[in-house]
Amino acid sequence: DLNPDEPSEALREEYAELSDRVREARTAYYVNDQPTISDAEYDELYRKLEEFEALNPHLVANDSPTQEVGGEVSAAFAPVKHLEKMYSLEDVFSTDELTAWLTRAEAQIANLPGAPKVQWLSEVKIDGLAVNLLYRNGDLVRAATRGDGTTGEDITHNVATIKDIPQKLTGENLPQEVEIRGEVFISSKDFRTLNEHIVEEGRAPFANPRNAAAGSLRQKDPQVTARRPLSMFVHGIGAAQGFDLESQSEAYDVLKSWGLPVSPYSKVLDSIDQVLTFIEEFGTQRHDLLHEIDGIVIKVNDRRTQFRLGYTSRVPRWAVAYKYPPEEVNTKLLDIRVNV
Ligand code: NAD
Repeated sequence: DLNPDEPSEALREEYAELSDRVREARTAYYVNDQPTISDAEYDELYRKLEEFEALNPHLVANDSPTQEVGGEVSAAFAPVKHLEKMYSLEDVFSTDELTAWLTRAEAQIANLPGAPKVQWLSEVKIDGLAVNLLYRNGDLVRAATRGDGTTGEDITHNVATIKDIPQKLTGENLPQEVEIRGEVFISSKDFRTLNEHIVEEGRAPFANPRNAAAGSLRQKDPQVTARRPLSMFVHGIGAAQGFDLESQSEAYDVLKSWGLPVSPYSKVLDSIDQVLTFIEEFGTQRHDLLHEIDGIVIKVNDRRTQFRLGYTSRVPRWAVAYKYPPEEVNTKLLDIRVNV
């Protein structure tokens, strides 16, 4: 007789297949910089896996893509252990879902001792490649990709060719040690010029700026990287020794004063309504910004509250990414062979 607690073979197979499809897409995207499906298709597949796991909690594997920061380390680069883990972000795909997420977070924060007031730092989600910069006494000593969140790829020499990224921080009272996280990207304008040149040379153009940025940065030869128009905006801090910050917005002011590139598109907001307006405004001008975005990131501004909410194995509990609905153009562009 069938034991009702024993998952059926068919269910196990369905689960393995779904997990494998997500893993394969991730390898194509993170390791080869050659996605095989569009971001919207990936998001849908990932959602399916999450829904399957919610319905079949007894099947959830510890190494499921939903339990880990997505990304692998290519053998082409030396591995680098981050001092503090780099995380992904929880995604929501509608304003209803976002409102529910923010309302839940506000209720949770109201229950913390002292019931701190919530302010939401809203900023654009840069469609680029996550990078970790390690500065010691103001000197850039190492740069790495996110990798699996714990271990990334050493891209120090490639990062040295990016003009936006200072080799030395400026100012007084520089920290002994600080990890700065941000996004390397190619601006929309530079992307058009780059692809025009590539087509003139008779080669296949890049499918989108994100691929172009990832392919350009993850090169064995830094001289190739040097010829690509890479930019960066920083949006977070990892390990930090020798200084303290009250809020995310204060962190941006400090990073800027050290000479680091900080996004012009962020705002501290006092209510969920203001967050929704921010999303609507950037939705209408998303293609007129300096770079492509794939959504909006909303973070608890207060650092102490961030610390108290903490992290899951994959994402912070104090931030969420709202993804704009997919646009036709992305899937069409993917038909073009991707250049690396
Ligand atoms: P994510 O891209 O949804 O969010 C996490 C990342 O956002 C962080 O690592 C950070 O570097 C970046 N980010 C950009 N702007 C930021 C800001 N202002 N503040 C904080 N972080 C910011 O999650 P993920 O795990 O990196 O990747 C999943 C996403 O990558 C998918 O939703 C999809 O879009 C894409 N993807 C696509 C494929 C594919 O096959 N097409 C495969 C894997 C992943």
